[in-house]
Amino acid sequence: MANLDPIIKDLVIANRILAKEDVVDAYGHVSIRNPENPKTFFISRSLAPELITKDDIVELDLSGEPVNKNEKRSLYLERFIHAAVLDARPDLNSVVHAHAEDTLPFGIAAAVKLRPVIHSGSFIGPNVPVWDIADKFGATNVLVTNMAQGRDLAKCLGKNNVALMRGHGFASAARSLIEVVRMSVYLPRNARALMRAKMLGGKIKYLSKGEIDARNKGYSPYSTETWRAWEYWANKAGVGNLLTRPDGGTVTGKKHDHAHDDRDHKH
Ligand SMILES: [Zn+2]
Repeated sequence: MANLDPIIKDLVIANRILAKEDVVDAYGHVSIRNPENPKTFFISRSLAPELITKDDIVELDLSGEPVNKNEKRSLYLERFIHAAVLDARPDLNSVVHAHAEDTLPFGIAAAVKLRPVIHSGSFIGPNVPVWDIADKFGATNVLVTNMAQGRDLAKCLGKNNVALMRGHGFASAARSLIEVVRMSVYLPRNARALMRAKMLGGKIKYLSKGEIDARNKGYSPYSTETWRAWEYWANKAGVGNLLTRPDGGTVTGKKHDHAHDDRDHKH
């Protein structure tokens, strides 16, 4: 278990970044598969991502139940999204679910498909399916509250990176935490650019398949480009002090003065 500390810290960083970048608010969550046991994953207990510290992280199995049977704290109602996607996609290790407002129109309006239009939006992939919970489950509260619903969403996601959830939000999944955070930060920005371009009118120029492939080629979580964004976002979110880097590269973590970080460190 000794090696899990950097993973847990990264998960705290991911939560804080997604909050700071307005991808999540009081709701929304991010998970990472346990590198020592692919049948479990880490995610926070039910808490707003802005407020999460290491002590809030829990380990769940791929049916969404806590590994620690004595866990008494409330868990996310929609944790089944993470369990089902990680179960269906053994090639991926990290999932985000959020309600980012700019993505919502594309889950509602049939006229325009959400696709990459800006370079940083390329990570969402060429095809973003829309999952409608009503298709299979009729009139629900529109939340994913059990494994059957989670599995149906994972099926819609298929081999894609992102699925929009009609009238609700999105689920995104990637090989690493850094990658899923980057994708989830740029997803609403890509949606915003596309929405504004539609307002200007005329034909939309999407990124081509070749451009998307060229952008994604040779991805590495610790490449200069990828790390630069992660390091920047972590510092901006006030958690630069939690940065770790398994490849031994240089880490720039600023001292921070955000009040809520006092939960991590005694000054
Ligand atoms: Zn939700």
